[in-house]
Order: sequence, then C-alpha cells, then structure tokens
Amino acid sequence: MNMLQDDKPKEECGLFGIYAPEQEVARLTYYGLYALQHRGQESAGIAVSDGRKIQHYKGMGLVTEVFSDDTIVGLQGKMAMGHVRYSTTGSSLLTNAQPLVVYFQKGMMSLAHNGNLTNAGELREELGGHGTVFQTTIDSEVILNMIARYRRYNLEDAVIKTMIDLKGSYALLIMAEDKIIGVRDPYGVRPLCIGRIGERFCLASESCALDTIGAEFVRDVEPGEVVTIDEQGLHSRQGLPRAKMAFCSFEYIYFARPDSTMDNLNVWEARHQMGVALAKECPIDADVILAVPDSGTPSAIGYAHAMGIPFEEGLLKNRYVGRTFIQPTQEMREVAVRIKLNANSRVIKGRRVVMIDDSIVRGTTSSKLVEMVRNCGAKEVHLLISSPPVCYSCYYGIDTAEREKLVANKMNTEEIRKFVGADTLHYLSEEGLKRALDGNQVCLACFNGDYPIEIPQKFNKQDLEC
Ligand code: AMP
Ligand code: SF4
Repeated sequence: MNMLQDDKPKEECGLFGIYAPEQEVARLTYYGLYALQHRGQESAGIAVSDGRKIQHYKGMGLVTEVFSDDTIVGLQGKMAMGHVRYSTTGSSLLTNAQPLVVYFQKGMMSLAHNGNLTNAGELREELGGHGTVFQTTIDSEVILNMIARYRRYNLEDAVIKTMIDLKGSYALLIMAEDKIIGVRDPYGVRPLCIGRIGERFCLASESCALDTIGAEFVRDVEPGEVVTIDEQGLHSRQGLPRAKMAFCSFEYIYFARPDSTMDNLNVWEARHQMGVALAKECPIDADVILAVPDSGTPSAIGYAHAMGIPFEEGLLKNRYVGRTFIQPTQEMREVAVRIKLNANSRVIKGRRVVMIDDSIVRGTTSSKLVEMVRNCGAKEVHLLISSPPVCYSCYYGIDTAEREKLVANKMNTEEIRKFVGADTLHYLSEEGLKRALDGNQVCLACFNGDYPIEIPQKFNKQDLEC
C-alpha cells in the first residue's frame, strides 16, 4: 500500500478569505472560521498578505485552540484566507494542515482546498516524474504545484489551465501577494459564496460565516467560475464551462449549518421540507416527535407540524464535546454516542415516540439511540430518516465510510430495522428528497451510485449494485 492509499484522502473543510486593507483581516478570518468550525475540527490555519509577503500560522485542533489573541495580532496584512479541516485519523498531521504557503518563481502563494480530487494520484505521479517533491500527502499540494508549473502565465490563467487537468470536487482559495482567487469546480459539488463588507469582498464556504462578520451575501460562486478579489473589487471569469450542476445533497442533509443558504436554498428550509415529505410518506400515529440533534431537528419540526403532533426535546446533545478525540473504532463509536447524546425519560416514558435523524451510515448511532429511548420507557420507537439509504461511498470529499461498512450496503430496510431495534424504519425516498430540495440539481451518488464525475475505474457502479 502506498502512502497515499494509507492516507485516506477524504476531507471535509471550510474556507474563508477576505480582501480589506482597512480592517483587521486575520481577526475577521478567525471569526469566519469560527462560524465554519462544524466543517472541520482537526486543524485550522490563517495566511495573511501585506502586499509583499505572505505570513501564516496553523495548528491542530479547534480554531479557539489554535489561535490566541497574540497570534492574530501578529498576522497583519491587507488580505487573509483561512481553512478548517476534518480528516480521517491516518492523515491527521500538522504538515497536512492548510493553507499551504509556498515560494515559487513569481513570489509567494497560498492555497486552501475543500473537496477531493479523483485523479490526484495520477497527477502526483506525473508531477513526480518531472522531479516535483512533496511535503504533504494532500491533494492541495498537487494543485499548488500544477499552478506553479504555469508560472509564465498570470495567476488567473495558471489557475484556469490547472482546472483543465483536475477531476473531482474542489472549492479553492488561492492567495498571491496582491489578490485572492476563489474557484469552484464545473459541477459545483462543494460550496463557495461571495460576501460584501463595505466596499470590500470576502469568500466563504457557507453564508453563515458572512453573517458572523457582518458581511452581506452577494451570490454563490458559479460552477467553473474563477473570481478574484483585490484592490479594484470583485472580478469574474468563467474558467471552465459549467457542467450539469451536481451540488452535494449531503450538505443540505447533514453537513452544512442550518442558517446557511446554499445555491439559493436555505439549509433549515430544506431540512424542514424533508420532514414534511417524511410525513407524507410515512405518517405515524405517535404521541411525541423527537429529533436526533442537531441535524435532525429541522426535519423533526417539519414532521411534527405536518402531523400535528408535539415536537419535544427528548434527546439532548452535550454541546461541549469538542474535537474528535475519539478514535474511530467501532467500540469507541458506541461510547461516543453516549458521550454526545442522552435521552430524557420525562419526555419519553409511556409514550409512542417518532425519532428523526438525518442519515444512517454504519448504524451505530441509531442502534444506541433506539436502545436508550426504549430504556427510558417508550411504548413504541419509530425511526424516520430524512435521506435515502447511504449505499455508496463518497469520492468527492465527505467521509461516508468505506462501502463495506455502510449498513445499507449489507442489509435491506427490514433487516436494518431489526438491527437497530425500531418498531418502524422509514427512509425518505429519493423523490421526496428531490422535492424537498426544491428542484435544485444535486449529487445523489451516495444514495444511488450515479456518480456525476468519473471515479477511479475499480469502483464502477456495475460492480457495486446496492
Ligand atoms: P452511524 O452511527 O455511522 O450510522 O452515523 C450516523 C450518524 O452520524 C447520524 O446521526 C448523522 O447525523 C451522522 N453523520 C452522517 N454523516 C456523517 C459524516 N460524514 N461524518 C460524521 N457524522 C455523520
Ligand atoms: Fe455529497 Fe454523497 Fe455526492 Fe459525496 S456522493 S458529493 S456525500 S451527495
């Protein structure tokens, strides 16, 4: 096994960048990353440029653990960009933290990436064949080297030439001494939006980060678009033609913050509609509706309103469970569920309970929660899931586990119902999900195996029937 295979490339990340010479850009980036903390808790980093050089600081842990007031004050500049990263344990190294900052022939450059390239291995081999050496095991360094290879062009042209060779999903921030460039792949799999603060502009993975710094939402970066923010303001070029939009539906289901709006659809509203759709597909005569907090909450409220049954807080989340110090073994996952969530028997005892979660991946959370709710004296426990069964792995940057570990890959719905111990188990249909997403064109590959972007050959759909 080579180092790259060992180092699982799946990453879930958050990006924030701002050009605003009259503001404390590092501090605003810190607040932006703070709002995006849910997108990654492994490492955080900020790079600033004063127009001549780029300085940076990064570390392992939460944004508040990595940065002190002194480090923020030490990062003075006209523009800044930052990154929070989640990764699987194997690749949890400081060298892999972002932004990456390098010297190249034209000066300095820094880069941060959210997504996953499906051809990173091939590109790395090709670059290696020309003598490129690497200091990290992440895709972002491959992209950085590809851009540097086109050094005779201006930076936007070098980025566009690089995009031609990239396959997979990417939202990128690239900072030179005098500008920040934001890029979204032609399918728009990963999010990136533009904000305005006074006369200046910023870029963020989610609109909640714009709200946090008091910026106004301008628009999403379009698929295939390359935007630049600099002294003159905001400039845009279509780097590659737009492909058929395939925005990650899992952002709406689980990953994004409910107060964010992505591609014109508010995440809370989408989740609420998933709950309404569940009520149409699976109305249950129950006494109380519970959510698995937090991602299940808007759907549970939607279901409760549609059914006219009270929504109550029967499951409580410990909000102080910090970063993922829990090693991802099965045993530790079970402990993690109990550390993170507890049931309140006052709400549950003697009642017929509907419990709504956003997804089942391995089945660990659902089994433990059904058991917990039963132990609190529930008369019946019905489990509704606001997405279809996750049968396929994601190759575009969300850690949905290897295919063999996905419970829906091994069992049908009735078998999973028995496995988790619920009286009813219903997954939202693909049609119901699409309706809740208001016709937005999305990727549904982890549910139906229709990968919008080519994936490595050995994982073709015909070999993977679910
Ligand atoms: P599992 O216990 O493996 O079935 O995981 C399902 C639970 O994990 C659900 O409560 C989801 O909210 C949550 N979840 C879904 N996708 C992910 C992900 N990519 N990373 C971490 N947690 C997730
Ligand atoms: Fe999102 Fe699933 Fe598509 Fe991955 S496969 S991008 S998790 S919808």
